[in-house]
Amino acid sequence: MTQYTPMMQQYLSVKAEVPDAFLFFRLGDFYEMFFEDAVLASRELELTLTGRVGGAEEKIPMCGVPYHSAEAYIIRLIEKGYKVAICEQVEDPAEAKGVVRREIVRIVTPGTLMEGKLLKEAANNYIVAVSEEDSGYGFAACDMTTGELYVTSLPSATEGLLDEIIAYSPSELLGPARLLDAIRPILPPAMKPVVMTRWDKRDDPFLEEHFRDGETGGLDGASFAAVSFLMAYLKDTQKRTLVHITRIRTYETRQFMTMDPFTRRNLELVETVRDRSKKGSLLWLLDSTVTSMGGRMLRRWVEKPLMNRSHIEERLEAVDRLYHQLIVREELRTALKDVYDLERLVARISYGNANGRDLVALRKSLEQIPSFREACVDSGSATLGKLVEGMDACQDVREWIEAAIVEEPPVSVRDGGLIKDGYHEHLDKLKEADRGGKQWIAELERRERERTGIGSLKVGFNKVFGYYIEVTRTHLGKLPEGLYERKQTLANAERFITPELKEKEALILEAQEKMVDIEYELFSELREKIAGQIGRLQKLAEIIGTADVYQSLATVSAANRFVRPVLGEGYDLQLEEARHPVVEAVMKEGAFIANSTSLTRDEARILLITGPNMAGKSTYMRQVAIVCIMAQIGCFVPAERAEVPLTDRIFTRIGAADDLIGGQSTFMVEMMDIQVMTEKATERSLVIIDELGRGTSTGEGMAIAQAVIEFLHHEIGCKTLVSTHFHELAHLEESLPYLQNYCMAVKESGQQVTFLRKLIRGAADTSYGIYCAEIAGLPESIIQRSYDLLNAFEERAAASAEREAAAGAETPAPARKPHESEGRIASGEERLASGDARVVREAAAGQAYP
Ligand code: ADP
Repeated sequence: MTQYTPMMQQYLSVKAEVPDAFLFFRLGDFYEMFFEDAVLASRELELTLTGRVGGAEEKIPMCGVPYHSAEAYIIRLIEKGYKVAICEQVEDPAEAKGVVRREIVRIVTPGTLMEGKLLKEAANNYIVAVSEEDSGYGFAACDMTTGELYVTSLPSATEGLLDEIIAYSPSELLGPARLLDAIRPILPPAMKPVVMTRWDKRDDPFLEEHFRDGETGGLDGASFAAVSFLMAYLKDTQKRTLVHITRIRTYETRQFMTMDPFTRRNLELVETVRDRSKKGSLLWLLDSTVTSMGGRMLRRWVEKPLMNRSHIEERLEAVDRLYHQLIVREELRTALKDVYDLERLVARISYGNANGRDLVALRKSLEQIPSFREACVDSGSATLGKLVEGMDACQDVREWIEAAIVEEPPVSVRDGGLIKDGYHEHLDKLKEADRGGKQWIAELERRERERTGIGSLKVGFNKVFGYYIEVTRTHLGKLPEGLYERKQTLANAERFITPELKEKEALILEAQEKMVDIEYELFSELREKIAGQIGRLQKLAEIIGTADVYQSLATVSAANRFVRPVLGEGYDLQLEEARHPVVEAVMKEGAFIANSTSLTRDEARILLITGPNMAGKSTYMRQVAIVCIMAQIGCFVPAERAEVPLTDRIFTRIGAADDLIGGQSTFMVEMMDIQVMTEKATERSLVIIDELGRGTSTGEGMAIAQAVIEFLHHEIGCKTLVSTHFHELAHLEESLPYLQNYCMAVKESGQQVTFLRKLIRGAADTSYGIYCAEIAGLPESIIQRSYDLLNAFEERAAASAEREAAAGAETPAPARKPHESEGRIASGEERLASGDARVVREAAAGQAYP
């Protein structure tokens, strides 16, 4: 290292602190990068790579960005999943002896961004820390932009930890290397990219000090460790106190419905599978929130349906009241319209980043609180009443801002123009002096025009010469000799000064400089004073967010004719004429066909749904899950009537081609999921399996499907919806008392097949593969031959089923290894029945739907 110049040595020692981040090293007006950082950054940011002599034999690779446009470059690197450490000169170069002292002032990482376009208004930006102890995992999720901190602990099973991580979709994940290595390979590939940071430094004393009011008391060993990792990391990257993180919100995962990542994705709760956009998701449908706090809170509610009956009822009560009172809803929406993003405003204030406009936004938001409270009380809702009862409206903060800050302050806080007249005596005096001086100058112009008779004479100002008197060349002759002192000659004018003018100028400039300083000081003082109220403002923001979510759910429920669900105490789920709300919303009005569902302990715990592709099976099954989720969010549901029990876990297995994990086959993934399901599902769970056993040969697929269904039926007793194209499974209805066959009705007339999208009892016949071939125009001889073959296969299959039934009487094991002949039949039949047939031919009507 000694070979390098002192400055490069300084660079290298700073860089050693942040090996995993780009180091933006401040040199004058530039941030420079060196060595590998420079090579990589030049590629990622399309910058020119140059070299710098630094003491070594070869030039050191270097590239840089101007400091004033650094922000955009930093954001680009963060977007690409990098971190950026910003190293500033921390002493005045003029006073430095030797190399100017430099320090990292902040490390920008995807999970700790405070502003910029990467932050979506209606979504939290989480950084999650995980820890591992003998007792289990600790989990802490923080949104730096709002100061929220959620903490829990989990038993030692990686799926549970993964479910929790996915529920927050963090942009950064911290934890000990070993734990991250265990998580990395099981993250679903479709998940939003997450930056993983190996981190196991903790700062326990700091933690105790930071959360003063015994906040950490409720944490167990594992969750304490997670919070400690997190806070140590935040302290390390932000290099400042994190006053806006005031509360630890602990929870237990069993307070919420459990959903694995695949289920969340598949039900399209917050984004669609196809393009990961919010549009088309359940969140999109339910989002009529007016404020950013409400938008983010709704997303959290959708991600975490409740398990606590009385909490759900509280939410439903508020939604119910607002549902029936359009006027109150409008009052509430109007009050909320002018409420800005309080949570992020307040975080910026505590960070010292807020400007005058932010404070005005805070003031305007606080002005809305009285009418907001009134609307909540007017609703007559007990839940809303309780929400605003004793609410701290923070009107003192509003008054402070009102007294100090002008209506329309400039963006900059360093150029004055922020503080109102009458707020500060000395400032007022300076303003007076400034105004007086300027008036005197205006007066001077008038006076001098008169005195010289030059109408075009004017007084101007520039940064180099200050105030001057300008006379155009044509009029120079009119000026009495020795009146003014010549200062500058232009092409067609001369500029002059007078001692009197310079004297006034000095006074004006001094006043201005002082004014700007005092204004900045007063502004910072006020900002700090408000930062001291952060806990109060955060509480208020949460109340506003909550009420906003209630009005959103009520507004959407009313607009879409949803009904209040009855939360049943028992097992049974009864939906009359239910709809899939999102599919319905994107269709023509009235085009969606409603279907009922009855899943009861005594009659039907499992519905086996057969029918061709495109008949509407998966829409129907998802609709049942969505209704359960909506009810547990506390929303009304799309049905004529709905009795919904509390569901502890929803499990969906829906074959999707894009769900490959690290080269494993879809079938393997399906089997692993089924394994988790058999282990985790309880009687209170809802299981949805679409096209069970599709990924393997027909014989095997059918065998596994039957075995899984029997297991769910005998061992678990959970509510189950299974769709399959193995119409042969319909016979299960005879042997399984709690299984019922259903299918999607189809109407056929001539060559035309119409999907009726109506669920009816009975099993569908399948010869749609051949029918499809027919529609596609295959030669008649092939079609006929296919039907003949199919009939022959089916006869043989029936015969073998009979044999099996006879054998089954002797050995009642629910599943056996397949034997050879089945395998052969299977492969033949698969050729005919698989593929993406889009139509079915309804066989002789009575026969198809007994
Ligand atoms: P399957 O799972 O049987 O292949 P889908 O559930 O994917 O069928 O439905 C196919 C299409 O049919 C959907 O894209 C949707 O547009 C339409 N659809 C499904 N259910 C209904 C319904 N109940 N009413 C109207 N259209 C529906």
